Amino acid sequence: MLEIDGKDGGGQLLRTALALSLCTGEAFRMEHIRAKRQRPGLMRQHLTAVQAACDVGNATVLGAEPGSLTLEFTPGTVRGGDYHWPIGTAGSTTLVLQAVLPALWMAGVDAKLRLEGGTHNPLAPSADFLADSFLPLMRRMGLQAEIRLERHGFYPAGGGAIAMDIATSKAPMALHLSERGDPIGMSVTALMSSVPGRVGERELDAVGRRLPIAAEHRHIRQAIGSPGPGNALMVRVEGSEVTELFTAFGERGVTAERVGELVSSEARAYLVSGSAVGPYLADQLLLPLALAGSGSFTTQAPTAHARSNAALIEKFLPVQIDFEERGDDLWSVTVST
Ligand code: ATP
Repeated sequence: MLEIDGKDGGGQLLRTALALSLCTGEAFRMEHIRAKRQRPGLMRQHLTAVQAACDVGNATVLGAEPGSLTLEFTPGTVRGGDYHWPIGTAGSTTLVLQAVLPALWMAGVDAKLRLEGGTHNPLAPSADFLADSFLPLMRRMGLQAEIRLERHGFYPAGGGAIAMDIATSKAPMALHLSERGDPIGMSVTALMSSVPGRVGERELDAVGRRLPIAAEHRHIRQAIGSPGPGNALMVRVEGSEVTELFTAFGERGVTAERVGELVSSEARAYLVSGSAVGPYLADQLLLPLALAGSGSFTTQAPTAHARSNAALIEKFLPVQIDFEERGDDLWSVTVST
């Protein structure tokens, strides 16, 4: 059983361990889960990820309780089928998906997944990010999967739903992304649920003052079926190789102009760096590239998050992940065996 210390990371380490345990058949015991977080241990979204991993992988588990700092997980055989995971809070549906998607892909099974909770959460990939940024790259690596957003869900009300259909896919193939490719275009969308339209207009104006996005590429979109209020501002940077999506969230006490400024500065840092992928996509590419056994990309300065995730991946798989500085806020990341 692999012994893992989770103290230097967050929920990502748990999800990576669940995903790789299912892919490799190796059991693990993780201690000090999210130990340095304000509310340490397993929270609802993490417990749903554990449950989802148990369901698809016929696994046995010890310590899957709210607040638990230790988890023991022993995987069985991964099975396809229809799965439904309601998180029960506004916890992120896309993060639960991170725990099971790699194993369903590697097992080459068909599966239909339905997840309920948050679809656009701060500190998590949004359903739009998965659809526009992450999945197109995974499809290039061989995954056959489609995502559908059925209802938007925002913190704190939740109530969103996403569905993913996975078809029997080839084993992951290497992917090399040294550049984002020819620029295709930039757009910005203010996603609104029970928030006055003028807030969205001010957000779009704030982005328009900072980024070269023409008026016809600034959109307001009403959320579908969200039971509570919410507002996400998303800047899409489309290149022939990679599409990046940057998101900031409107919240009480933060002006629309500030939300526009935050998302613009993330997008600008990416544009200036010249890297192929931004910091979040970098995080999320490490695991599939490691499963492929080979791959590389350029990105911005690696976060502590990316480095702790890489170190954990190296524990499970016979790969080496190298981070090399190439220039001002430009790094290359190489996965090799
Ligand atoms: P914590 O234990 O810190 O509360 P958590 O379970 O919410 O954590 P993290 O460990 O912070 O998870 O991992 C968050 C995940 O969400 C990472 O995969 C990261 O790449 C992704 N992510 C965060 N923000 C964004 C964003 N704006 N766009 C896309 N992906 C994001």
